[in-house]
Amino acid sequence: MTEKLFADIEYNLKFIEEQIAKAAQSSGRLREDITFLAATKTVDAQRINFAISKGLRYIGENRVQELMAKYDEYDLKNAQLQFIGSLQTNKVRQIVGKVSLIQSVNSLKLAQEVSKQSQKSGVITDVLIEVNIGNEQSKSGIDKTGLEELLLQVNTLPALKVKGLMCIPPIYDDKTKIIKKFDEMKQLNLDICAKKIDNIDMNILSMGMSSDYYEAILSGANMVRIGSALFGPRLYA
Ligand SMILES: *Cc1c(COP(=O)(O)O)cnc(C)c1O
Repeated sequence: MTEKLFADIEYNLKFIEEQIAKAAQSSGRLREDITFLAATKTVDAQRINFAISKGLRYIGENRVQELMAKYDEYDLKNAQLQFIGSLQTNKVRQIVGKVSLIQSVNSLKLAQEVSKQSQKSGVITDVLIEVNIGNEQSKSGIDKTGLEELLLQVNTLPALKVKGLMCIPPIYDDKTKIIKKFDEMKQLNLDICAKKIDNIDMNILSMGMSSDYYEAILSGANMVRIGSALFGPRLYA
């Protein structure tokens, strides 16, 4: 059973690597220009570390509690740990210093807390701003229209550094609609870049998951977050 699980992960990893390389090439870039992050929620450390032993270099967790429970087991000599889920202000303290990037900063209040806790720990935390590109009530990102204002507020925080944007688009049956959202994100990234806001980088554009990472890369993503296509369907306890 376990051997089959491992063999599947190894196979999936190779397949995803090939797809990423192809999509990178089709969009005039190199494989190395794209960061492949594995979304590891519900996946045990043994399987995560197996993927790391086969070349995976970035992992991302969604829930602080789960990250803390698995933290001592991750092989972090060979991979970077990031945080990609919605983050409550009162949990920031637990993950600062443990993650190399928080992808889900979506408000001034959260950014202030990340900076405050980072300062306390003597680190600077890299973050992405999560954009609610589909304007969904249920999603936690900042609206497109509020993005610039937020950037102008967080760029003076002493221990937080904005490195780019992240989004989780709405679920559509029609792929052309998802692609439209990816294109909107790329344009947003370019528009913000053109404004040259002090202390704000737009180097990372994190979008695309198991079912649409290929399209996301074609639209300009340089980081994709892939869970089920690598580890199989999630089994919730
Ligand atoms: C779970 C998750 C993913 C990956 O989802 P899959 O569809 O399984 O690839 C990507 N990003 C975030 C924020 C997630 O929570």
